[in-house]
Amino acid sequence: MIKYDLHCHTTFSDGRLDVAELLQRATEKGVDILAITDHDTIAAIAPARDYIGNNDLALELINGVEISTKWESFEIHIVGLNFDPEHPVLQSLLLEQQQKRELRAQEIGARLAKNGYDNVYQDAQALAKSAQITRAHFAQVLVERGVAKNIQGVFKKFLARGKTGYTPSNWCDIATAVGAIQAAGGVAVLAHPARYKMSNKWLRKLLSHFKAVGGEAMEVAQPQQPPTERQFLGRLSQEFELLASQGSDFHFPMPWVDLGRNLYLPKDCQGVWRHWGGTEE
Ligand code: AMP
Ligand code: MN
Ligand code: MN
Ligand code: MN
Repeated sequence: MIKYDLHCHTTFSDGRLDVAELLQRATEKGVDILAITDHDTIAAIAPARDYIGNNDLALELINGVEISTKWESFEIHIVGLNFDPEHPVLQSLLLEQQQKRELRAQEIGARLAKNGYDNVYQDAQALAKSAQITRAHFAQVLVERGVAKNIQGVFKKFLARGKTGYTPSNWCDIATAVGAIQAAGGVAVLAHPARYKMSNKWLRKLLSHFKAVGGEAMEVAQPQQPPTERQFLGRLSQEFELLASQGSDFHFPMPWVDLGRNLYLPKDCQGVWRHWGGTEE
């Protein structure tokens, strides 16, 4: 069996391992085919290809990205796989998204400052360095300041939708993200459909919309997921005639989530790799 992990992050966005560390770890964990899917950036791809070549790693890289979009009142993530990273339509969309990230980060900082937490933007920026700045960077700063015990705690208190520091974003819509990925020859995958805190009725509405704008695949398998959820998502992928993807969404080592860990599709699901002629064997 080929081990696919088609969703993870590096220090080019909110992952904590750099490209070399991530690739070494993926190799150690027996991943055969890996997609790095940083938030709104493809900056990891070229250095990753170089590192794999220079170190003769037995690992195949699939070009990847995770694009933030806005749909109804939700932030929906669209993963793009196996596209041409040089394509101008994709590149200009990512540039716009990066500018929106920067503006939103300043706004989050301003909101937190109004609530008595000064210079969080500056500290988050220092943490992110030249990477795409995300709410996870803000969360890390606030954990270090002792505002909450862990990242989840900060999200609950300040950064989740509806909380003080939350800033509604102006991300592109789903059709734009899907269109740019496809223009660049890639396949558009709805990321972690069970994580949007929406009812099943809304989830079906989302899948119908995604399908209507040309979406081709959805994530079905993640490491830290009850088996019933995986089965449910597998059935939805069949019902909506979407290819099925699997990925750890790895950001940093933790007990339950790791590269390549516990990733398999329920039977009768069609792997997204079929899109580029990949197989299970
Ligand atoms: P952003 O794309 O800037 O909105 O940041 C979202 C990122 O923050 C996600 O990709 C996750 O890595 C992280 N994140 C979002 N919600 C939570 C949460 N409740 N607990 C921990 N991390 C979260
Ligand atoms: Mn993230
Ligand atoms: Mn995501
Ligand atoms: Mn992700």
